[in-house]
Amino acid sequence: MPINIAMDGPAGAGKSTVAKAAAKTLGFIYVDTGALYRSVAYYAVSKGADCKNADEVVPLLAEITPELKFIDGAQRVFLNGEDVSDKIRTPEISMGASAVSAMPKVREFLFDLQRKIAAENNVIMDGRDIGTVVLPNADLKIFFTASPEERARRRHNELTEKGECITFASVLAEVNERDHNDSHRDIAPLKQADDAILCDNTELNFDQSVEKVVSMIRETISRKEQQMR
Ligand code: C5P
Repeated sequence: MPINIAMDGPAGAGKSTVAKAAAKTLGFIYVDTGALYRSVAYYAVSKGADCKNADEVVPLLAEITPELKFIDGAQRVFLNGEDVSDKIRTPEISMGASAVSAMPKVREFLFDLQRKIAAENNVIMDGRDIGTVVLPNADLKIFFTASPEERARRRHNELTEKGECITFASVLAEVNERDHNDSHRDIAPLKQADDAILCDNTELNFDQSVEKVVSMIRETISRKEQQMR
């Protein structure tokens, strides 16, 4: 039986970097489900569709085949055979992903793919609704968060390091807007599952966060091993 770890939380909490490092330490696959929503938004934008308009986005789903491939332990996202992993990391696509992910048909479209990967692998799956909807029976659910200001500060550093010219204020506004969209939508809103463990890393550095997550997962693995005996 594969071990499934659900890791949910708001944008910019450091989930992806921490989950990626923890997965590497443990030999798990790290699955970034946000990349799937981003690839839908990327396709919609490339077709000139308005990401906020379901009438424009939903018909395009029939033209999309998203795939996640794991190359040397790292996830790459493919859209109709093209590796779009890097192209989906722009502020425009972030906002587009937040909009398309509020559409029930888009969520339904991506659901089976996520479930299948978890059924076949030991995973740390990162998203917004993994513990609540995608993997309600996950072995461990972590709700990973940090304050909005700290998340905006980290996102701002990340973007400026990539050479993007963007103010802290606009990054903070984007963080707040995405938080609001993600937690107020009718379908699969971002919320902590009742049985998830809250992990607030505002005061933790990267190594401390990874250590905390790895030790939580190790405890889960040994608990599961004992139950199986
Ligand atoms: O995680 P990331 O910031 O790349 O996700 C992009 C957007 O996709 C999020 O703002 C969220 O709206 C959406 N998303 C989601 N459910 C997931 C993963 C991401 O709705 N499981």
